[in-house]
Amino acid sequence: MMRRSHVLSALILLGASAAAFAQAPSLAARASATQGAAGPAPGETLSQSYRGSQSSNWEYQKVAPFKVFDNLYYVGPGSVSVWLLTTTDGLILFDTAQEPLVDHVVDSIRKVGFDPKNIRYILLSHGHLDHFGGAGKIKALSGARVGVLEEDWKLIEAFYMNKGRGNRDPGVPFSRDLVLKEGDTVTLGKTQIKVYHHPGHTAGSPSYEFTVYDNGRPHRALLFGGPGQRNGVEGGTQFLNTIRRLKKEFADLEVPIHVHSWLTTYPDPRGGTVFEPAQKLAQRKPGEPHPFVINAEWRRWLDVAEAGTIKYIEQEKAKAKPQSN
Ligand SMILES: [Zn+2]
Repeated sequence: MMRRSHVLSALILLGASAAAFAQAPSLAARASATQGAAGPAPGETLSQSYRGSQSSNWEYQKVAPFKVFDNLYYVGPGSVSVWLLTTTDGLILFDTAQEPLVDHVVDSIRKVGFDPKNIRYILLSHGHLDHFGGAGKIKALSGARVGVLEEDWKLIEAFYMNKGRGNRDPGVPFSRDLVLKEGDTVTLGKTQIKVYHHPGHTAGSPSYEFTVYDNGRPHRALLFGGPGQRNGVEGGTQFLNTIRRLKKEFADLEVPIHVHSWLTTYPDPRGGTVFEPAQKLAQRKPGEPHPFVINAEWRRWLDVAEAGTIKYIEQEKAKAKPQSN
C-alpha cells in the first residue's frame, strides 16, 4: 500500500511533470527550429521521433514519467514503453527497456512515488532485447519474478548464449524463471492479470489483461505484446489469427496498451499510442472522457492490422514462389 505522504508527493511530481509534458512538443519544435537540436523531424509526430530521428539520442529518450490511471503509470523511455501497475501488495512492471536506459526506468518509478524494490513481477511482452534488456538489473534490485511464455524464454536464452553479438549492450543476463502460458492468472494483492498467447510478432508473444481505474471507475485493459507481424508466412499467419481472435474476444476492449509509443507496422492514427493521448490527458478537465479509453479506435486499428497482415502474407508467399515469366 502507498502511504499518504507518497501519494501526495506523487501527485505533486505528476502535476509538475504533466505541466512540463504539455509543453514538451512546442519546446521541442522551437529547439529544433532554432538550433537543429532534439525534436521531431519535419513530418514526424512526437511518438514517431523516439523511434525515428531521435532513436539514438539517449537524453531525448528520457521522458518524464506520468500517471495514466489510478493504478497505471508510464515509466519508460520514449522509444519503448514500460508500464508500472500498482496493486495492494507490490508492483508489477511490464517490460524493462534496454541499456543505456534501464536506470531511467528505475528513476522514473521512484519519481512517481514508488520503491523499485517493491516490484514483485516483471512481465515481458516478448523476447526482444528492447523489451527485456533491463530485466536482469531490475530483478537483481527487487527480487521480482520474471515471466514470459516458453517460446520467448528460448529467444532470450539464445540471445544470452550469443551475447556480444552486434554492438547492443545486452544488459545483466538473467535465466529462465516464470514460464507463463495461455490461461494463467498472475495474482498480486487484489489484482489479477490474465495471460493470453497471441503469437505473430514472436512465437510466444503474450497479452496481459487487467483492470485499470479512472478515479475509481473500472476499465478493461489489455497490454498487447506483439506490435506487428514478423517472420514471413508463418509469423504473418500467426499474427492474422491473433488479430482475428482479438476482434472476437476483445471487441469491447476499452484500454489497449501498447509496447511502443510508435507502432512502426501499423501506426496509431492519433500520431502515437502514448504521448499524443498523454498530452490530452494532461489537459483533461473534470468530466471529460479519458484519452486512453478508446474502444472505437482500437477496433479501427484491428481492421487496419487485419488488412495489412493479409497483404503481408500475400507478399511473403509471392517472395517464396519461384518467379515465372
Ligand atoms: Zn519486438
